[in-house]
Order: sequence, then structure tokens, then C-alpha cells
Amino acid sequence: MKHVKIMGIPFTHIDHRTLVQKLETHIEQKEKSFVITANPEIVMRANEDHNYMRAIHKADYITADGIGIIKAAELFNHPLPGRVTGYDVMMDLLQISSQKKYRIYLLGAHRDTLEAAKRNIKLQYPHLDIVGAHEGYFDWDSNSISEEILQTRPDIIFVALGAPKQEKWIAENIHKFNHGIFLCVGGSLDVWGGKAERAPISWQNRNLEWLYRLLKQPRRWRRMLALPRFAYCVLRQKVKKT
Ligand code: UDP
Repeated sequence: MKHVKIMGIPFTHIDHRTLVQKLETHIEQKEKSFVITANPEIVMRANEDHNYMRAIHKADYITADGIGIIKAAELFNHPLPGRVTGYDVMMDLLQISSQKKYRIYLLGAHRDTLEAAKRNIKLQYPHLDIVGAHEGYFDWDSNSISEEILQTRPDIIFVALGAPKQEKWIAENIHKFNHGIFLCVGGSLDVWGGKAERAPISWQNRNLEWLYRLLKQPRRWRRMLALPRFAYCVLRQKVKKT
């Protein structure tokens, strides 16, 4: 598949619809797949952490989550088809799974939030087959989580451990599985569990989701300094190339 490399990360040239269709095909064909939706914070972090960069390179799809990535791709004259967020892909996969009886596993968030998320997902999709769930705070070196997940034979594993944990956990464990879609969904279980809110569509359409998150969760300000640093590095890369 076509890629656009931005600061060492090969972004997949794919739109939301096509990705969802491809994931459905992987499920039907009993294949496995690792999906990352990367934003500028993730790109900057990968450039500072070799292990993280290696983990990211194991993904089958790396989509552009954030207007910063879209703008950078435009600047390098390799525009990407649009934003593809973990939350939106999760929404579509839940709907499809409810119709097609795909087996769902949820990994991540605090126990109470996870329970609330599970309840709310079940309310919206009563026929959905949630075969298992585990909170996101566990002993990293124990194999018990991956063994538990394996036993439930899920078709889709939503991994909501936040970056960089979710990408690293999948990269370390996916070799144990023969089949399954591993989708990084960041704080999506917090949204489902009623602990966080997604930016309203009007903010998303104006590319201001990052500002909404900053206003709602001011503790993120330090992490968000990655955005101007990302812009600076991208511009520097552009100037070097011209
Ligand atoms: N999280 C987790 N285990 C951890 C760290 C984080 O399950 O060891 C969960 C956290 O509870 C939250 C989600 O990961 O539900 C996303 O966290 P954060 O907002 O920090 O990540 P981001 O949305 O920026 O990727």
C-alpha cells in the first residue's frame, strides 16, 4: 500500500471507509492486523524513543489522526486522504460486529470506567458479543493478559492503554495470535465510560479537536507542546528538501 513518510513514520495512504472495509476482510479471512492512528504527539515521541519507533513500524496500518499530520503530508506534496481516528474506526467496527457477530475484547482504562464503557456499549449494541474485557493497569511482564485474550478468541481487540503503551503492548504480544484486529483507541473507553467527552462535530470539522481536549483536560498542556515542536521539525525538514 502507498505510504507517506513523515519524520520517520510511514503513514498509510488510506481513508476511513477503505480501512474499515479492509479490516472487515481481514476478519473474514481470519488474518491479523495491527492498526495505529498516529498524531503529532506520537510522531515526536517515536523520534525520541527507539523502542517506540520500532513498535510503530510493526503496524500494518498507520493512519493520520490529527490535522497536523494532514498538513505535514500536504507540505511534502504527498497529501493523505483525510483523518482516520481510532474512536471513529471503533464506532464503525462495533456496529459491524453487532450485525456480523464478531467477537470483541476491550483492554484498557480504569476498572470502573471499563465497566461503565462495557455497559454503555451494550446499551447501544445489545447483540454485540463482548467476549472479554480487562482493565488497563496490569503487570506488564506477566503473560496472563495475552493468554486470557487468546482463550476468548476475539476477532477485534480494542487496546485503550494510551500512547505509547498501547502500541508497545501490541508490538510485543501480537506474535502470539493467529488472528485478530488490534486497534489502538487511546482514550475511547473513557468516552464510552462517560469520563471524557469527544469534541463536538463542529470543533472536529474546524480541526480544533486538539484545542477542545486542551480546554477540557488542561493537564495535557505539557504533552501538547509536542504540536509546535512537530510543526517546527516538519518545516525544517521541508526547508532542507527544497
Ligand atoms: N491507560 C491504561 N493503562 C495505563 C495508562 C493509561 O489503561 O497504564 C488508559 C487510561 O486510563 C485512559 C487511556 O489509557 O483510559 C488513555 O489515556 P490517555 O488519555 O493518557 O491517552 P491518549 O488518549 O492521549 O492516548
